[in-house]
Amino acid sequence: MSNYFKEYPNSEGFFETYGGAFIPPTLEVEMKKITDAYHTISKSHNFIQELRSIRKHYQGRPTPVYYCARLSEKYGGRIYLKREDLNHTGAHKLNHCMGEALLAKHLGKKRLIAETGAGQHGVALATAAAYFGLECEIHMGEVDIKKEHPNVVRMKILGAEVVPVSHGLKTLKEAVDSAFESYLKDPENTIYCIGSVVGPHPFPMMVRDFQRVVGIEAREQFLEMTGELPDNVVACVGGGSNAMGIFSAFLNDEECQLYGVEPAGRSLNLGDHAATMKFGTPGIIHGFKCYMLKDEKGEPAPVYSVASGLDYPGVGPEHSMLKDKKSVNYDSINDKEAIDAFYELSRLEGIIPALESAHAVAYALKLAKEQPQKSILLNLSGRGDKDIDFIVDTYGLPE
Ligand SMILES: *Cc1c(COP(=O)(O)O)cnc(C)c1O
Repeated sequence: MSNYFKEYPNSEGFFETYGGAFIPPTLEVEMKKITDAYHTISKSHNFIQELRSIRKHYQGRPTPVYYCARLSEKYGGRIYLKREDLNHTGAHKLNHCMGEALLAKHLGKKRLIAETGAGQHGVALATAAAYFGLECEIHMGEVDIKKEHPNVVRMKILGAEVVPVSHGLKTLKEAVDSAFESYLKDPENTIYCIGSVVGPHPFPMMVRDFQRVVGIEAREQFLEMTGELPDNVVACVGGGSNAMGIFSAFLNDEECQLYGVEPAGRSLNLGDHAATMKFGTPGIIHGFKCYMLKDEKGEPAPVYSVASGLDYPGVGPEHSMLKDKKSVNYDSINDKEAIDAFYELSRLEGIIPALESAHAVAYALKLAKEQPQKSILLNLSGRGDKDIDFIVDTYGLPE
């Protein structure tokens, strides 16, 4: 196990053939500086102590693991949630944002810049910026700005500048393009804080490392509660950071089956989903190599999901490798299944999940029915407050 994290990624940022850094020379210099700084401070006692203290006193970690008695009774199996929805700002994202911002401070940067889909990464980064006294600029597609209004307001309250992106599909991919452009104008004073285990090296490695706390805690908590390891571990996959966070603690446990759940959207036609692992082929997007959904020209294809945090045409390079190695099973859940699961968890357990996390919940309910004797540990990556108006307006309330 310890070897796995030394081996992947290699010094150039490759997870076998995936990952790397396919970027212009000016950015190469910056990425090298960030990589070197990360290697230095991630071994530093002060950095580790400060991050630990932030996690405990500010974020509210460890987040609990919770047994869903009513859900398990109805569907079978034994379903447990790792409650990242209870992490400060309501999702797992603050785990890597506090790490990235601490690194930025160490590098003497004054400004944090990022893209956001559902707005969770933007809110988490704006929070980190406020905590450390840094400026913050968040790029967001106009479609997502409308859909995720509460998060836009949150970012502004926290003091961040929200830059609307109005080209293309006006969602996550365009927001990344726009944030990269802005970053290239002033890499000296700025750091681009990528919101998932994607982008050029060292981001997939750094973000994974900052998210490993989820898996480390969950494994220990689950063992303590049940005396055994979970049979199945489930997480939704957009870029793949919450999934890498929890999977990373179980990669060596042959008895644990790992499931990454992608959005099958409104249909399986190209443009109607973001099931990158199912339908993608290797390609380069935003400076790294991964499975990718392509149009007929080989460019990133338009993607869609009811969950704004999941509609990305690429996926983390580590996930791409784990798919090829068959270490993780990747499958998909469509909009309707996710919405149904959203209401099931709300009404049977009193927990309103993020639409992203609802994809993992829907998959767990299927697994529970198929394997009533088995246990499931599900990473509940975030809470659903941001989604409630959109869901009720669009789908109405169930009976
Ligand atoms: C952003 C987000 C995701 C998707 O991102 P990953 O990097 O795949 O984890 C999933 N769930 C929630 C709640 C999010 O905010």
